[in-house]
Amino acid sequence: MTFSGVILINSVTNYYRRDFYSGLDSVLKTNDRLESELEKALVTDPTGGSLKPILESYYGKLGIDDYRNCYLLDKFGNYIDGTDDELGNKLPKTENLIAALNGSDGTLLPGSSEYCDYAVNLSGEAVLYIKDSMDEMKSFISILLNIVLQSMLVSLLFAVVLSFFLSRTITLPISKLTESAKHLREGDFDHDIEVLSEDEIGMLSATFNEMKTALKNTLDAASNERSKLETVFTYLRDGVIAFTEDGRVLHVNRAAVDLFGKAYDKKFNLTSFMRLLKLDGSSKDKSKSPVPHFSESLVESDIMYEGKVLDINFGNITYSENNTNHEGIITVIHDITGRYELEKARREFVANVSHEMRTPLTSIRGAAESILENRDMHEDIRKMFLDMILTESDRMTHIVSDLLTLSRLDNKKTRWKITRYDLAESIKHVTDVIGVEARAHRHILELETDKSLPEISADRERIEQVLINILSNAVKYTPDGGHIKVSAHAESDSNVVISVSDNGIGIPPDDLDHIFERFYRVEKSRTSETGGTGLGLAIAKEIVSAHGGEISIDSTLGKGSTVTIKLPLVAWLSDSADNA
Ligand code: ADP
Repeated sequence: MTFSGVILINSVTNYYRRDFYSGLDSVLKTNDRLESELEKALVTDPTGGSLKPILESYYGKLGIDDYRNCYLLDKFGNYIDGTDDELGNKLPKTENLIAALNGSDGTLLPGSSEYCDYAVNLSGEAVLYIKDSMDEMKSFISILLNIVLQSMLVSLLFAVVLSFFLSRTITLPISKLTESAKHLREGDFDHDIEVLSEDEIGMLSATFNEMKTALKNTLDAASNERSKLETVFTYLRDGVIAFTEDGRVLHVNRAAVDLFGKAYDKKFNLTSFMRLLKLDGSSKDKSKSPVPHFSESLVESDIMYEGKVLDINFGNITYSENNTNHEGIITVIHDITGRYELEKARREFVANVSHEMRTPLTSIRGAAESILENRDMHEDIRKMFLDMILTESDRMTHIVSDLLTLSRLDNKKTRWKITRYDLAESIKHVTDVIGVEARAHRHILELETDKSLPEISADRERIEQVLINILSNAVKYTPDGGHIKVSAHAESDSNVVISVSDNGIGIPPDDLDHIFERFYRVEKSRTSETGGTGLGLAIAKEIVSAHGGEISIDSTLGKGSTVTIKLPLVAWLSDSADNA
C-alpha cells in the first residue's frame, strides 16, 4: 500500500505540473498566442494599464483560481497589476522570474516541488508572471494519502484477523499432533487425532493415526512374542541367569532360583555364582574379569553342587541399558544328575556283569585245565572238577537268563500271559518245589493261606518265579534247621498280600534301601557261598511292579527277614499293549 501510495502521489504531482506548463504554453504561445496579444497592447500602452482586461478574458483558459495567480510586472520586476495585490508586491525572485526579467522566458520546471511558475517577457517592457501554489494539488494529495492510510489500516486489521484465524487452523491440528505424540511417548495409544480437513495438515493427521495403529500393532506383536519367551524362560527346566557387564543379575528364571535356594539372595551376582559352583578358582578367562568374552559358547561339565551334577554353558549377550548397548553374559545350567546317575549305574552294571561272568568262567577254565593236564587224575577228583564245570555253567546260564528277563522287562518286551487262577494252589505248588531244598537244609517250611483267598488275574508263571526267588533266598540265608513261613490273605476287595518270613541271618539296616538294586548283595563273601547273583530281588520287584503291585522287605540282622508282596486281584499291566 505504501509503495502504491508513493507511486500514486508522484504520478499526480507530475501530471499536475506537466499540465500546468503545457496548458500555459498552449494559451500563451501555441494556440491562443496571448503573448503576442499582450505585446501588441504594450506598444500602445507601455504602462501596462490596459493589459488587465485582456488578461481577465483569459483567466479561464489560464486556470486562474484561488491557488493560481497571475501578475503583471514592469521590466524591473515591480508589480503593476494582478489577481492578488498582496502577494504581487512581495513576489520572491524565482529562477523563472529572474530569467524573464533578464529578457528571456522562464518556463522551466522549478527545482522545488512547492510551487509552479511561468514567466513571459513581453517585448522587454514587462513580464507576465503566473504562479501556482499547488495547494489544490496538495490538498488532493493529502486526501489521497488519507485514503491510502485508511486502506492500509483496514488491510492491516484485516490481515491480523485473517492471519490469526489462518494460523489457528494450522497450529490447532499441530498442537493436537504434539499432544498425541506426547501420549504416544507415555505408551497411551488411545488418543486418535480428529482429521478435520483434507489439506496437508489433515493428511499429516491421518498418516499419524495410521502410524500410531501400525506402531501399536508392532508393539503388541513384540509384547506377545516377549511374553511367550518369558513363559518359556520361566518354565524352562534348565536354570538361566543373565548377568550385566558389571556382574549384576539381569534376568533369572525360576529353575535357577530354585537351584540356588537360600544362596540366591539380593546380593547374588556373577562372583557369588562362580564361587558357589567353585568355578572362581578356574584358570579359565572368566575368573579374571567380571564379564569374560567367549568367542563361542563355553561348557563347564560335571560341576558338583549340593548333591547335584550340573553342566553349565556360558555365552555372551548384548543388552540395552540407558539407551546404550552393553555386553553381558548368559549362563544356562543343565541339571544332569539323573543322566549322570544313569550313566554311573550303567557303568556299574557293565562292571558287575563282567565280574559275575568272569568268576564262573575262571572256575570252568581252571577245572577244564586241571582235567586236561592231569590225565591220570583220580576218578573222584575228575568228577569233582566236572561237577564244578556243570555248576558254574548252570550259574552262568542262570545269570544270563536273569539278565535277559530283566532286559525284556526294561524294554517292555515281556509277553505277559494273564490268566485267572487259584492263588492258594499256586503258592502250594511253589512251596512244594522249594520244599525239596528246604528239607535238604532241615528247615521247617510252614504254609498258611486264608481259606477265602480269592482267585487272581495275573501272569501265573512269573508270579511263581517271584515267589521262588524269595523263598529260595529265605532257604539260602537261613542257617540249617530254620523256620520259614509263607502266608497269604486278602487285604481288601482289591488286593492280596503274600509274605515270606524266615529266622535267618537278616539284613543290615544300611543295605535294606539298596536290596532291590541290580547286582546288589549284602556281603559278597556270604553270597558266593550261596551262589547268589544279586538279580533275584530286582527281577521280583520289576514283575510285581509291572502287575501294579508292591514289594517290600523288613529285616533284623541276626533275627530274620520278611518279604511282603501286595498284588492287585486283577493285574493292571503298565505295558498291556504287549500282552498276548
Ligand atoms: P541273590 O541272588 O544274591 O540272592 P537277591 O537279589 O535275591 O540276590 O538278593 C540280594 C541280596 O539280599 C542277597 O545277596 C542277600 O544278601 C540279601 N537277602 C535277600 N533275601 C534275604 C533273606 N531272606 N535273608 C537275608 N538276606 C537276604
